[in-house]
Amino acid sequence: MTASRIVLIVLDGIGDRPHPALHGATPLSAARTPVLDRLAREGITGIMDTIAPGIRPGSDTSHLALLGYPPRECYTGRGPLEAEGSGIRMRPGMVGFRANYATLDSEGRVTDRRAGRIHGTEPLSKAIEEGVDLSSFGVRFRFVSGAGHRAALALEGEGLGDGVGSNDPKKEGVPPHSFVPTSDLPADAKTAAVLNEFVRQARPILFDHPLNRERLARGLLPANEVLLRGAGRMGHFQPFSERYGMNGAVVSAATLITGIGRVVGLGTIPVEGATGSIDSNIENKVEAVVRALETHSFVLLNIKGADESGHDGKAEQKRDFIARVDGALAPLLDLPETVIAVLGDHSTPCTVRDHSADPVPVLIRGEGVRPDRVERYDEFACAEGGLSRIRGCDLFPILLDLVDKAHKYGA
Ligand code: ZN
Ligand code: ZN
Repeated sequence: MTASRIVLIVLDGIGDRPHPALHGATPLSAARTPVLDRLAREGITGIMDTIAPGIRPGSDTSHLALLGYPPRECYTGRGPLEAEGSGIRMRPGMVGFRANYATLDSEGRVTDRRAGRIHGTEPLSKAIEEGVDLSSFGVRFRFVSGAGHRAALALEGEGLGDGVGSNDPKKEGVPPHSFVPTSDLPADAKTAAVLNEFVRQARPILFDHPLNRERLARGLLPANEVLLRGAGRMGHFQPFSERYGMNGAVVSAATLITGIGRVVGLGTIPVEGATGSIDSNIENKVEAVVRALETHSFVLLNIKGADESGHDGKAEQKRDFIARVDGALAPLLDLPETVIAVLGDHSTPCTVRDHSADPVPVLIRGEGVRPDRVERYDEFACAEGGLSRIRGCDLFPILLDLVDKAHKYGA
């Protein structure tokens, strides 16, 4: 019998390097992971360069590769993906940006790039959508809040380019930059002018907003500035269902990941208690995956917490989070007719505190898989596995073959 469904479990930032606090183990190899180990024992394992050896992947480019969309052909910047993940329908040609609410002092200097880690900015974003007018440029826009201090902007209109820098000074105590084009194309100059006008009009709206007055009265930092980055023009993505003949869904708390899902035509399944941090309700996410499989033949589950611990340099926290994830994955062990792949989208070593190019461990388990001798899921054991060393773009074809959806090459 052949499996008919695929679950792709991305443990975001799972890969790591030997850590002194763990006596030379990695957080994954130090963690107790009976569920992942059983999957490794029953499956085939390997290590994977999600983009290519020596390339440090972003989560966006790596997820595109894992879904079989070569990022060198498809990737047009983070902005449009964030905008889609925030619920903005991005049409081809629209230009998207990742936005942050920030705090300016009375001298116009940035005092907090995250506005005191504000939550619940929807009234601010709504006021900006209603109050800012870019029609003199022939431009329409959407501005939508995301989680915490995050938001997304999308511009639509004739002659807009995506070659434009950020106004984020990346440090505190200095004023935001003006937007400048990164080329001498008129389209990029136009976008820079539109953005400068956008923040000029947004400032008084934010300054006078009751939500900010109330924050000031409570001694909290106001969200009185918008910082924009990650400009990108929405590209064309062949729909997942057309490309693979399968319908799919994404379970993830990160708007960047749900955005990638949406641009390729994967549905988003919201989950109560999913936060994208180490306090996330992983049990609820796994339950959502099991339910989604009743109506979808493909589900992507992204679990973000380990990446966060890696960025914070907390090896023990990362190890303990991985052990908790392992327990939560148990309900997936006995799914019938299902191929399960477990992997990272990149390594986020606690000693580096950022993404690195170290390959990630990968396992595939399901009907028809030829098991190897590896009995543990970690960076060291999987390097001995039967998949050897593959690239991110190799993964989806392998999975498709296991569910009998691969096309024959030649006669
Ligand atoms: Zn990632
Ligand atoms: Zn990261």
